[in-house]
Amino acid sequence: MFLETPDLSIYRAGNTGIDYVHTFDSGIAGPHVCINALTHGNEICGAWAVDALLREAVRPVRGKLSLSFANVGAFASFDPAHPEASRWIDEDFNRLWDVSTLDGPRQSAELTRARALRGFFATVDYLLDLHSMHTPGPAMGLSGPTRGGLDFAHRLGLPGYVVIDAGHSAGRRLRDFADFSDEASPRQGYLVECGFHFERASVEVAHQVSRRFLDLTGVCPGLAVSVVTAPQMTVRITDAITIRSDAFRFAETIDSMQVIAKAGTLIALDGNEEVRTPYDDCVIVMPAPERYMLAGMTAVRLGRRVD
Ligand SMILES: [Zn+2]
Repeated sequence: MFLETPDLSIYRAGNTGIDYVHTFDSGIAGPHVCINALTHGNEICGAWAVDALLREAVRPVRGKLSLSFANVGAFASFDPAHPEASRWIDEDFNRLWDVSTLDGPRQSAELTRARALRGFFATVDYLLDLHSMHTPGPAMGLSGPTRGGLDFAHRLGLPGYVVIDAGHSAGRRLRDFADFSDEASPRQGYLVECGFHFERASVEVAHQVSRRFLDLTGVCPGLAVSVVTAPQMTVRITDAITIRSDAFRFAETIDSMQVIAKAGTLIALDGNEEVRTPYDDCVIVMPAPERYMLAGMTAVRLGRRVD
């Protein structure tokens, strides 16, 4: 397990008036590009990648570059003995990004931080939101529901899997904030799951995707060390399997991005109910770990390849 965390205390003041947000302006016309880490407080790979860009003093040659750490309150509570516990303080920061929630009366640690950041994110043209996953599996980019989002993911070329999805019924994600999910808008939000939370390889993915993103958006051309051009596999989410009983278990070990050839293959038992694949060549996307198999939660999502 890789459980080392960067020291972010030196970034607290930022340079924008918002804690832990830095913006560097080239003075030349161009997009406002942001790499954001720690939407979830225990997803440390993104923190390492943004820390590296700040330490290396990477600056834009056109447009503006912002580097931000989102749920720093949760991150501050990171304890290597209980690394899952610092995902958030009161609630999921990544389900708050619709205007009615942000403008609403509810209060939480995450809402306070989201309200401090919303004006900033509203000015961003291209957002890369760096995440990691509960279980080991290949890195994937979540391109959102729009054609523009998918095109952007394909032009970026990283990571090797692209997942088209519309988000979560529990609340809007940062990558879908404002018009990031509007087909008519050129603005893009791209969420990348870099791999398992606590694996050193996820940090390397976060570094590579970040540099490629700054290269592609034109703020730091040539920054990418190497562009991986292996074809990406693209999957459109069709189903989310919601757990109904208190006794959900997968029928056998299934891995994220595994393709199950035959329709009707048993993949799980939810109490006495069988869960079977609905069509041939069904792709398993991010099965939940056992500790999250609780009634009402999403056990796994299913998708079709769209090559
Ligand atoms: Zn996350």
